[in-house]
Amino acid sequence: MSKSNRNDPRRSTASQSTLTFYEFNGDFPDDAACLEWIVGHLYPDGIYCPKCERVTKHHRVKNRTCYSCQFCGHDEYPLVGTIFENSATSLKLWFHAIFLMSQTRCGISAKQLERELGVTYKTAWRMANKIRSLLQDDDDTPLSGTVEMDETYVGGRRRGTKRGRPGKDSHKTPVFGMVERQGRVVAKAVPNTKRAEIMPHVKKKVLPEAMVYTDEYTVYDSLNRSGYKHDRVHHAEEIYVAGDVHTNTIEGFWSLLKRGIGGVYHSVSSKHLQGYLDEYAFRYNHREDPGGMFNAFVNRIEKGGPEAAS
Ligand SMILES: [Zn+2]
Repeated sequence: MSKSNRNDPRRSTASQSTLTFYEFNGDFPDDAACLEWIVGHLYPDGIYCPKCERVTKHHRVKNRTCYSCQFCGHDEYPLVGTIFENSATSLKLWFHAIFLMSQTRCGISAKQLERELGVTYKTAWRMANKIRSLLQDDDDTPLSGTVEMDETYVGGRRRGTKRGRPGKDSHKTPVFGMVERQGRVVAKAVPNTKRAEIMPHVKKKVLPEAMVYTDEYTVYDSLNRSGYKHDRVHHAEEIYVAGDVHTNTIEGFWSLLKRGIGGVYHSVSSKHLQGYLDEYAFRYNHREDPGGMFNAFVNRIEKGGPEAAS
């Protein structure tokens, strides 16, 4: 007979899940637990007291997001400079929003966050943007090995054909992507897909030794001239895979992105597009993090992040 406790559901070892809602809720039952986690994360060696000029024990000041040095009373505010600064929203709701954003593959809309968290749409939208700002691409490790490159077009109303490149009057924004097979993806919103826009991204992000696969778009002619080994699939002849020569990996990423932006975010203004691209790339790039996606998200919490000042 099974001994499982029906009131205490456990994750099956066969499940791909790394964190269930029950586990999340158990780890972060209230604001105090979230604040404590943030303090442990931001001050791994303890809180430094500038008056005592050393790390000292700080006690939480009751009902405030403030810690006080037990010797001199110096006040330390852990949330200052983080995405949570000046927010009237409870930390538990912030962490719940991070949980929801981290557990999805296709993204979650501000409308959905509003419903799940019981906050206003405006608050949900602001929270999502702040959380998204944690996920900016700051990994300067170049892509190497086998790299696929491709461009696509997102946003706007007009539906493009799969390989079609929209005309000048289109409201779609071009996106250039590079992905290392079994590795990381980099996706950049670009004003156009001309060589002068594309090649600086390639040179910055891809090692010259890389083997690059693209389709037959003429811009990629310059890859050889820039010293990359380059081969291309001939989509025009309806050849999509020839041995190793294919762009299926980057196309898989595009379909994930488009399912999200089309189905979840509906339309994304070009101003915010790079943030969404970074969010999708972050989830893709951390898909195999042993600590799981939620941890990958919260580990990005920092003081003085890009959004902290706004
Ligand atoms: Zn002190």
